[in-house]
Amino acid sequence: MALIVQKYGGTSVANVECIKNVAQRVKQTWDMGTKVIVVVSARSGVTNELIGRAKELNPRPDSREMDLLMSVGEQETIALLSMALHALGVPATSRTGAQAGILTDDTHMRARIHSISGGDIVDQLDEGKVVIVAGFQGVSINGQVTTFGRGGSDLTAIALAGALKADSCQILTDVDGVYTADPRIVSDAKKIEEINYEEMLELASSGFKVMQSRAVEFAQKYSIPFEVRSSFNQKPGTIVKEETPMLEGIMVTGVALDRNQTRLTVTELPDKPGTAAEIFNILAENDIIVDMIVQNIGRGGVANISFTVSRDDADRAELGIRKHFSDRTGDDFVSQTEIAKLSVVGVGMRSQPGAAAKMFDSLAQANVNILMISTSEIKISAAIEPGQADDAVRALHDEFNLNQ
Ligand code: ASP
Ligand code: MG
Repeated sequence: MALIVQKYGGTSVANVECIKNVAQRVKQTWDMGTKVIVVVSARSGVTNELIGRAKELNPRPDSREMDLLMSVGEQETIALLSMALHALGVPATSRTGAQAGILTDDTHMRARIHSISGGDIVDQLDEGKVVIVAGFQGVSINGQVTTFGRGGSDLTAIALAGALKADSCQILTDVDGVYTADPRIVSDAKKIEEINYEEMLELASSGFKVMQSRAVEFAQKYSIPFEVRSSFNQKPGTIVKEETPMLEGIMVTGVALDRNQTRLTVTELPDKPGTAAEIFNILAENDIIVDMIVQNIGRGGVANISFTVSRDDADRAELGIRKHFSDRTGDDFVSQTEIAKLSVVGVGMRSQPGAAAKMFDSLAQANVNILMISTSEIKISAAIEPGQADDAVRALHDEFNLNQ
């Protein structure tokens, strides 16, 4: 009998009506004689609400307590969905991350999965039950509740599908799949039928909100194919897997936009070995992920370093740097600017030259000024003014013929 893992995100289980809809969908699959494991997120908004309350009480809440708090959101959903399935006459049982044997390290709020035993899931499935597992959470070797970072229910689904050798894994969400660009910005954006892990990973980490990038990374590492599709209709979604057909002449697969970025600039640093190391060690100690980096060599033995971080980390980054250079006076030696990061992604760039020229030409024609640039083998990103972001996405989508 085939085993499927279905993951429903927060908007799909937002309220009692939505949970009933999910229960119906799960029943349809179960009625076909398929074994079903359902992974769910917290109802949309719940995790944010919990975090908000914590921060009202303490601006820097302890991360162990945060994990206990945040894991509550998913526990509400598993119990409710189980009850909804019972009401439809479907035998179902819910499991927390710990009960599902999802063992992690003890890095609170972004724990890494060590192993998944599955607990008694296989037995429950053999008895004909639907098993509902709380996403986003596990248990550390020391018995502490841990979570996997925002959006971490995706990781639970992918990892369970891998560990229990599921025949398929569906990530059900509020969009029909992965698009060539955000359809809210580009009206003729197209749904991508198949995409490989590499491109999906670059898109996910470049601002495509569809999936947690850690989950895609995990899927790639362990070769776990999955499908991203809507929980609100029956249309086929986007299949994410190892190899997709290479289409001749296609250089770019998608355009991504991340509006949630801040550029920090540190001025007049001594232009000598070790300066960059000093700055980026401060960020590493504060657990801050840095994206683009530019260093300008100034005159007179000084240099400026600019780098981008997620906007949520910007104040912490600035504070860390100010503390470290506490002898520096003047307010403006560290400054913040809000930016948007625009990326084009495609494995076609490996075999075809000219992607950067095309991208920058098109941005020049649209009168978009480029503030910073970074590249990988299959991605080119540019930092731009947030106000120009939508136009820039549309220009690039056209330039690379993604609407065809
Ligand atoms: N509830 C968690 C979050 O909002 C995990 C998830 O939804 O995947 O980040
Ligand atoms: Mg999500």
